[in-house]
Amino acid sequence: MAPIVRHAVSLKALNTFGIDARAGRLVELRAVADLAATIALLHAHPPVLVLGGGSNLLFSRDPPGTVLRVMLGGRRLLGERDGEVLVEAAAGQNWHSFVDWTLAQGLNGLENLSLIPGSVGAAPVQNVGAYGVEVCERFDSLDAVSLRDGTSRRFDATDCGFGYRDSVFRRDAGPQWLITAVRFRLTRTPQLQLDYGELRDELRARGIASPGAREVADAVCAIRRRKLPDPAEIGNAGSFFRNPVVERARARQLATAHPGLPLYPGSSPATAKLSAAWMIDRCGWKGHRDGDAGVHLRHALVLVNHGHASGAQILALATRIRESVRRQFGIDLEPEPVVV
Ligand SMILES: Cc1cc2nc3c(=O)[nH]c(=O)nc-3n(C[C@H](O)[C@H](O)[C@H](O)COP(=O)(O)OP(=O)(O)OC[C@H]3O[C@@H](n4cnc5c(N)ncnc54)[C@H](O)[C@@H]3O)c2cc1C
Repeated sequence: MAPIVRHAVSLKALNTFGIDARAGRLVELRAVADLAATIALLHAHPPVLVLGGGSNLLFSRDPPGTVLRVMLGGRRLLGERDGEVLVEAAAGQNWHSFVDWTLAQGLNGLENLSLIPGSVGAAPVQNVGAYGVEVCERFDSLDAVSLRDGTSRRFDATDCGFGYRDSVFRRDAGPQWLITAVRFRLTRTPQLQLDYGELRDELRARGIASPGAREVADAVCAIRRRKLPDPAEIGNAGSFFRNPVVERARARQLATAHPGLPLYPGSSPATAKLSAAWMIDRCGWKGHRDGDAGVHLRHALVLVNHGHASGAQILALATRIRESVRRQFGIDLEPEPVVV
């Protein structure tokens, strides 16, 4: 089947903020066999925006050029060695349904990452993480194709340069890579990560003393459903700002100047992560509304679209929040979603 090309498409249903941006051209990639023809099409109408589930994007305007919607599906077990099971999923596969499938195969490792919206292909892009686990910890490798010249490349974890909500795919201005498939190393024996207090509390409340991976996934889903705003009810992209990582000494100074500021371990002993939500809340933004662009009533970190906000209005609100946090704390917040 040839790649499907659509013209003048509303992207409202294709991004979880529910922003009514328009794509002049949208190409749907449904089969790896269509890659060469797809890349030729893209070259005729640059630039290209690769779109998965649209849950980590803010359209501040209509994207120029072509939107490439990745709809490659499928997942499979590749083999077992030394107690590890290698599984592969195509980039367009829904992330949560893939996690659920691994659990149904009796595989452990991805349970804490249940119910994160979006696609498998985007998971390594920002090294998704939740409840004490980052996807890089279960990652084996991925296949990608250069949108510049169509060459294929396999990336291992080192090539991906994973960091906190970060990877080379977000950082590098080099060739634009289209991720087509991702492989994970999982186990048949439990490798549970239960450090997260809220997760332990949920399991305790359910009367589960020694959980299996499925019970951990169920607990994670219950917490997420209770806590996080559902994009089907109110447009959002999850956390809008990353938690800033600073030198430990600086973090201590800030915590002394602002008693109660939560500090978390950074990626190295020399650094600490600050709570962006706490700082935004302290600046008085929780529940704030500028027309239809707002800050969630219960989650200072989640910007919301109350109905008809444009991406530019959400971005303007985010800019005001960043300025006030910079004034009060001297910290520059960085957006987590990709701003188009
Ligand atoms: C309610 C809610 C809760 C969330 N909770 C979490 C959470 O707990 N932890 C977390 O880490 N994130 C969370 N997120 C953010 C989001 O779910 C993840 O970042 C997810 O991985 C994005 O997937 P996507 O397919 O929607 O990506 P998109 O939004 O479509 O794209 C995001 C970026 O990845 C690029 N991209 C997408 N697919 C590919 C591909 N195949 N090849 C190359 N580049 C690609 C895009 O070009 C873009 O730059 C949450 C979002 C929402 C709405």
